[in-house]
Amino acid sequence: MKAVDETDAAGVWDRPQAGLDVERIREDFPVLKQRVHGKPLVYFDNATTSQKPQVVIDALYTYYSAENASIHRGIHCLSEQATSAYEGARSKIKRFLNASREREIIFVRGTTEAINLVAQSYGRRFIREGDEIIISAMEHHSNIVPWQILCEQVGSRLRVVPINDDGELLIEEYERHLNEKTKLVSVVHVSNVLGTINPVKQVVEIAHRWNIPVLVDGAQAAPHLRVDVQELDCDFYAFSGHKLYGPTGIGVLYGKAELLEAMPPYQGGGDMIRSVTFEKTLYNTLPYKFEAGTPHIAGAIGLGAAVDYVNGIGLDRIFAYEQELLAYATAALSAVKDLRIIGTAQEKATIISFVLDGVHAHEIGTVLDQEGIAIRTGHHCAQPLMERFGVPAMARASLVFYNTKEEVVALARAVHEVRRVFQ
Ligand code: PMP
Repeated sequence: MKAVDETDAAGVWDRPQAGLDVERIREDFPVLKQRVHGKPLVYFDNATTSQKPQVVIDALYTYYSAENASIHRGIHCLSEQATSAYEGARSKIKRFLNASREREIIFVRGTTEAINLVAQSYGRRFIREGDEIIISAMEHHSNIVPWQILCEQVGSRLRVVPINDDGELLIEEYERHLNEKTKLVSVVHVSNVLGTINPVKQVVEIAHRWNIPVLVDGAQAAPHLRVDVQELDCDFYAFSGHKLYGPTGIGVLYGKAELLEAMPPYQGGGDMIRSVTFEKTLYNTLPYKFEAGTPHIAGAIGLGAAVDYVNGIGLDRIFAYEQELLAYATAALSAVKDLRIIGTAQEKATIISFVLDGVHAHEIGTVLDQEGIAIRTGHHCAQPLMERFGVPAMARASLVFYNTKEEVVALARAVHEVRRVFQ
């Protein structure tokens, strides 16, 4: 196809592929070996959920086949083994985020639950009528709706920092939004629609001048970037295991210990208590205060295995390779006539959303599926962002380190064909 060949000629892919043996890496992911509608599967829906390497699947299998028991309770051997595997996973996450203490790592269901936890626990304790919460115009619904619920409960107000046409946060506007009424800032690290990598360190630094805590939604950042919560100095950081090659139903809330200590429990139940009487209950210490009930033990262990796997390749190498892939895919898709990429920030991760004149995103997705290519179409749980760009829906290809140049060629070729057929 001409567009792709032009990209090759331009030398976008001339450089070595950041030292990653992608063919070898692909062997680690059993799902990628299958065919869909008779074609080799091209999985470009990684921002929704990513595929799992065999080591993660094995970790789940080992837990359920050899170690299954509840944690923190029994004195029997299996329970001790399960507890140590679960707490071992917490240590791995602590190192992964460069948090300073294990008790700052709370296991939750995912980013959504992490944000709801902060909204309902921190928010209901510290945010009052007339106070303001700041988010950005590029948030996922899970970083909008929990704050709206809180605002209804306590009478506070949500304020939204605008973005430019490239999909970049307007930092000066952000600064103008802060005032003595602002009680929390909650922003996304990497946009799930635009791919924009936000300057969260700067966002935090500016908020801290006013002593305002900052939550960072890292759902799309953790799989692509090295995250250092101490360097960012953020107060909360949330991410989901299933986007980081780990299991579904497990995720992490990092919070600075002094804030978590001051917050009331989010849910009540087993394991989060020190003692219970009908008159008064004393709560457990961190992190257990926020982990009521039997947790997703296998999920935490699987997430630990995923973190080991990613560390084994190295996030710096992953990022470098993905940036090459991004440049190639951007050039290849831009060469398709009547296609507009939405999200052209200077700093981007491998998330490419686009619209094609006269063709609905769902039609693109359906045709691509017939070619074995999985992309996401729709509003991407970011309806206000669709409105900002004046479109009802977008098509989105999100790539990771197991994707290849050949897969991008297949995508560009298929989108080219969609245009030809539908227009
Ligand atoms: N924030 C962002 C930026 C996301 O992309 C997503 C998932 N699409 C979420 C939050 C919610 O993540 P989860 O559904 O895993 O809780």
